[in-house]
Amino acid sequence: MIDAVPGEDPQDIAVVGGGMAGMLAALLLARDGHRITVFERDDTDLPETADEAFDGWNRGGAPHARQSHALLARLHRILAQRAPDVLDALAEQGATELTVERLLPPEIEDREPRPGDDDLVLLCCRRLTLEWVLRRVVTAEPGVTWRGGVGVAGLLGDGTDV
Ligand SMILES: Cc1cc2nc3c(=O)[nH]c(=O)nc-3n(C[C@H](O)[C@H](O)[C@H](O)COP(=O)(O)OP(=O)(O)OC[C@H]3O[C@@H](n4cnc5c(N)ncnc54)[C@H](O)[C@@H]3O)c2cc1C
Repeated sequence: MIDAVPGEDPQDIAVVGGGMAGMLAALLLARDGHRITVFERDDTDLPETADEAFDGWNRGGAPHARQSHALLARLHRILAQRAPDVLDALAEQGATELTVERLLPPEIEDREPRPGDDDLVLLCCRRLTLEWVLRRVVTAEPGVTWRGGVGVAGLLGDGTDV
């Protein structure tokens, strides 16, 4: 994950690949004030609903997107801090949160929460649901330009700019 320096001058940033990592990087960098262009090789419109996405969204560039995913606590923490709207949208689409308490084996009797437990929440959902939610939020974000159907073959640099 790229951490932008708060207060840094706005930059023009290219993100190659609009999978979950590219989309989240684009979103957070745009929210830090940068101008982002996402280049995504797949040329597919966003389905109307998350269920339609699961049934028929052709994500040839990420064929594993049809698998269900359990997403580690760091993602939940970053979303809670910097993109709570994405967490809310995921919850609306049925994503479940696995808290420490829910993960504890039943034979552990002391189930009292401990400080920091709130930072250890896993997210579980269809990967296509995560992609669908992120794509909706990212393409609506001011400062993000989405270029679908554009595969990047390489980068050209002149020593200063790329
Ligand atoms: C079967 C399976 C199960 C998994 N389960 C989990 C899990 O439960 N939890 C978990 O955290 N992780 C899981 N993973 C790993 C997780 O899916 C990957 O870490 C994740 O997909 C990486 O995201 P990404 O956005 O970096 O890349 P990808 O998801 O691979 O996305 C890359 C994107 O870039 C685009 N692209 C590629 N090349 C170009 C180019 N030249 N120009 C433009 N666009 C391009 C592609 O079309 C695609 O959209 C699983 C992986 C697999 C295969």
